[in-house]
Amino acid sequence: MSSTESQSLKFRVAIIGGGMGGLVLALSLKKYAPDVRYDIYESAPELTEVGAGIGMSPVSGSTVWFRKGDEQQVVDICEFPDLRTFHRSILQKLLAKHLDAGDQIHFAKRLSSYSETEPTEPITLAFKDGTTATCDLVVGSDGVRSAVRRTMFNEFADEAAKQGDDEEAAQFREKVEPIFSGQIAYRGLAPASALTPELSAFMRTPQILVGKYGQMTMYPVSGGDFINVAAIKRIPGAGPVYEGPWVENTTGEAAIPDPFCWAMHAVRELPTYIKGRAALVGDAAHAQLPHQGAGVGQAFEDGWVLAIVLSHPAVTLANLPAALKVYDDVRRPYSQSVVRGSANNGTNYHLCRAGWEDVSAEDSRAGRYPRELIGVLEEELRKQTRWMYTSSVLDERPGLLERLGALTA
Ligand SMILES: Cc1cc2nc3c(=O)[nH]c(=O)nc-3n(C[C@H](O)[C@H](O)[C@H](O)COP(=O)(O)OP(=O)(O)OC[C@H]3O[C@@H](n4cnc5c(N)ncnc54)[C@H](O)[C@@H]3O)c2cc1C
Repeated sequence: MSSTESQSLKFRVAIIGGGMGGLVLALSLKKYAPDVRYDIYESAPELTEVGAGIGMSPVSGSTVWFRKGDEQQVVDICEFPDLRTFHRSILQKLLAKHLDAGDQIHFAKRLSSYSETEPTEPITLAFKDGTTATCDLVVGSDGVRSAVRRTMFNEFADEAAKQGDDEEAAQFREKVEPIFSGQIAYRGLAPASALTPELSAFMRTPQILVGKYGQMTMYPVSGGDFINVAAIKRIPGAGPVYEGPWVENTTGEAAIPDPFCWAMHAVRELPTYIKGRAALVGDAAHAQLPHQGAGVGQAFEDGWVLAIVLSHPAVTLANLPAALKVYDDVRRPYSQSVVRGSANNGTNYHLCRAGWEDVSAEDSRAGRYPRELIGVLEEELRKQTRWMYTSSVLDERPGLLERLGALTA
């Protein structure tokens, strides 16, 4: 960067994590904020993801079926239009290609912690390899086990403890570690060419097969070359801590070459996504269960809204904390309501909602349950899904711009 370039910059942003949220934030900054310098620090040596599909809804795409799939014959519940599915690593690479950030992406840089000592001094980033860097704003888009969240909430806790409020300190400390959901996902991609014609035809239909304490989601990705398969098992009565690796390879069965199993964790509801000149986006702020296919979309929306905030002409280095408050006010309530919806949908999918308490897994498999429960389930699924079709992050823009315009230098 030349000295003239550096003089015309408002401030420098460090984006920790080049996942879905981090890449969209960077792309949006590139588009809207040429006077903001950003650097991405990514712990992986390159942008590769554990291979699997992601579903996003609703953008124009296919219809997805919900069916009760734990009986001899599947029972149709309902269908929803417009689910779009992607191969995850392809989406990530596409974002990175458009970003074309060259020397602004720093690979093999795992953040350990950051420190913001004075409001006017640069923030120092400390990486696991012993190196450091500085920035004016640090954004944690570093996923469910975020190091930025860890630093932020340990600091909140230390401050509360210093004030003698041990109870509040303990509450902050509790937000650092994600909580085990009691649900384990088995995921992988089946090459369509390896399936029998009947199975291939069945599995090409995007569908979620639900059942007592489990579900199976399948949809085609990469133009139908692969079928994304995700089976989820709910462990009734599981505790909040999972002993063992969260993601590991599992046995290669049937037509899925490299399946892996994933102990699913969520972030406890945070009282804020910001502190000083630090902010959280995506899973770092609100990792959730995948039961609405909403994690990626919410990370995208966080990144976009934060870029709109940072690009606004009224936002300067001096008023960054006030500007971040606008981001927090807009994104936190919305994203947390989505998180609650995803947990609720899991309760629906796994037939753990009201009415199903006395139906055992065996009864469910044998079809021994009141038939009207299927109608109630359909109604609940439709109710839970409505927000996806009726709300848009773009609706936030006018209110956002008005609040940013009112910021003083
Ligand atoms: C089983 C399962 C199925 C899912 N299915 C769907 C789905 O169908 N649809 C959907 O929308 N969502 C789905 N999700 C959720 C979705 O994957 C996440 O919500 C989304 O990836 C969040 O994006 P992110 O950028 O916040 O985090 P991530 O995409 O996880 O990116 C975080 C990045 O930060 C990097 N990183 C981590 N720690 C550090 C560090 N200390 N320093 C530097 N870099 C670091 C990581 O390497 C990674 O690149 C699913 C999740 C699970 C577990």
